[in-house]
Amino acid sequence: MFDIVVIGGGIIGLATAREILQRSPTTKLLLLEKEPQLATHQTGHNSGVIHSGVYYRPGSLKARLGVEGARRMRQFCEEHGIPSQRVGKVIVAVEERELSALKTLEERGVANGVPDLTRIGPERLRELEPHAYGIAALHLPYVAIVDFTRVAQAMAEDIRRRGGTIRTGARVTRLAHTNGTWRIETTGGDVEGTFLINCGGLHSDRLGRMAGDQPSVRIIPFRGEYFTIRSERASLVNGLIYPVPNPALPFLGVHFTKMLDGGVHVGPNAVLALKREGYRRGDVSLRECVELLCDARFWKMSARFWRVGCSELARSLNPQAFLQAAQRLVPELRSDDLTPSPAGVRAQAVDGQGALCDDFAIERSRDGLHVYNAPSPAATAALTIAETLAASLPDGRAAAQSSSRA
Ligand SMILES: Cc1cc2nc3c(=O)[nH]c(=O)nc-3n(C[C@H](O)[C@H](O)[C@H](O)COP(=O)(O)OP(=O)(O)OC[C@H]3O[C@@H](n4cnc5c(N)ncnc54)[C@H](O)[C@@H]3O)c2cc1C
Repeated sequence: MFDIVVIGGGIIGLATAREILQRSPTTKLLLLEKEPQLATHQTGHNSGVIHSGVYYRPGSLKARLGVEGARRMRQFCEEHGIPSQRVGKVIVAVEERELSALKTLEERGVANGVPDLTRIGPERLRELEPHAYGIAALHLPYVAIVDFTRVAQAMAEDIRRRGGTIRTGARVTRLAHTNGTWRIETTGGDVEGTFLINCGGLHSDRLGRMAGDQPSVRIIPFRGEYFTIRSERASLVNGLIYPVPNPALPFLGVHFTKMLDGGVHVGPNAVLALKREGYRRGDVSLRECVELLCDARFWKMSARFWRVGCSELARSLNPQAFLQAAQRLVPELRSDDLTPSPAGVRAQAVDGQGALCDDFAIERSRDGLHVYNAPSPAATAALTIAETLAASLPDGRAAAQSSSRA
């Protein structure tokens, strides 16, 4: 019998398990992951950016946990010998009409306490990113890149070292709660536990329903399609170059991301995936499609965002349209500079009104905690999200004990 069972071996589940054991070393903790390897899904398929916290509405969980989370993530990497590189980021306005949105971002960044955020003009932009075009920009010097799979592995080592158990290849298939005990059926054997923490990423709403909860949101998967700039032309980009995002959407727009291996990713197109773990265009799950089509939230979302959805799809199907979007920021980019690179699938929570939920969403149920929305920058903020979850445990279970940070 375990005290706490965490479902999901992505960065959120791992960080949470680690935090609980750090606060309360005697907790009997089990982490269940359905894949043979940890960090197989969002945590292992992302851009690897330790974000700054500039985008988020002041007071939101993303703002509160993102800025401090970034500092803590950089510190975690240093302490665990995980390579990360401070490459800096520019958010670039290319047209006059984007200046007011840039100003809003600047104000948010200041309100959120983003370190050393500065507004720059075209000359300074050219010094930082000689191949970028823009009339004004924000410079975020602390933004760094990292391999979040390495971070997840280091967290797993900490968990094992502190006496926690991690079982991979154990898909949770049924959850039953009787007399204060969870009976958890998995493909790797059945287990029992007192408290459940659902960090199931793309499957978190399903796991919530399995646990008898009625999540207010539904997860809709969006595939983020990327290209890589061929190595001889990677010098077009020094760090991270992002556009001013559409404030109505929780997506950042087509951007350039330097990777730790020196390569540069360009993207994404954010298109509806026809399977929760549908990394390729041809990946389709009929069952999931039917489920989606039967859900009013999907239709409400489509009614609100069909225009944006169509333009993302058009860009996905037409490489020339994608190139044009990228050339707004780096005009010298040519079509033969780009080759397709692996996609990622984002778990996007959609609420009853069909709105794309922007903020992190954590809900309590009886003897359970559910992370229903942990999109970007949740990898950056994993350590602070974990603290929030550990502090929400009932009866001071693991939470109340003084936290001596490693
Ligand atoms: C394309 C892309 C780019 C991104 N870039 C960035 C970035 O640069 N910086 C940043 O901070 N964030 C970024 N993000 C967001 C970040 O990757 C996620 O917020 C974060 O990885 C979420 O972690 P997670 O643990 O919630 O989910 P996941 O990593 O998806 O983990 C959930 C785990 O639960 C497991 N699971 C599900 N169902 C079951 C079950 N029934 N039984 C057992 N296990 C189960 C899954 O197999 C999975 O391993 C990006 C995301 C995407 C998609």
